[in-house]
Amino acid sequence: MSYTLPPLPYADNALDPVISANTLSFHYGKHHQGYCTKYNAAIENTPMADMPLEDVIKQTASDASKKGIFNNAAQIYNHTFYWHSMRKSGGGTPSGKVSDLIKDTWGDFDTFKKEFTDKAGTLFGSGWTWLIKDGSKLAIVQTKDAETPITQGKTPLITIDVWEHAYYLDYQNRRPDYINAFMDKLVNWDFANQNLG
Ligand code: MN
Repeated sequence: MSYTLPPLPYADNALDPVISANTLSFHYGKHHQGYCTKYNAAIENTPMADMPLEDVIKQTASDASKKGIFNNAAQIYNHTFYWHSMRKSGGGTPSGKVSDLIKDTWGDFDTFKKEFTDKAGTLFGSGWTWLIKDGSKLAIVQTKDAETPITQGKTPLITIDVWEHAYYLDYQNRRPDYINAFMDKLVNWDFANQNLG
């Protein structure tokens, strides 16, 4: 059975002008779909064709001979998580459980926001920055390329894609402007609270 990419959770112009329909349609339709097409070609007629995506990610994460499968599988997972990490008219300060945990971990929201934007801004090359649950506290982690926190047994709450393809059509080299716009106008705190269960 081949893997079918989940649809975007909103129209491709829903995040415009923060993220344009042009960026979103290329990012989902070419990049995300491209990982899916390569993944399906790689697992065809193997036992992995019948395994849940997350199981394939965990099984291939530390196997250098399966790096191609891992990269495509993890990029499918990471992008689906990223789409849900944003919503139209999102951003700003959270409420609910995630708000309480941010205060427990960082003291206040602004201290959290500074660490998140710094880590997303300073990740060298391509990768992701994540807010995760780690034990009873939260943490912010960077992952390189396709790496994903679920291979470490962590619970991701929110992610931002800082590969250049995520922002270059709208922001060119201004990654910090994209990160600030994500925090101020897009981040979906309801999704973070759902992930806390
Ligand atoms: Mn991407």
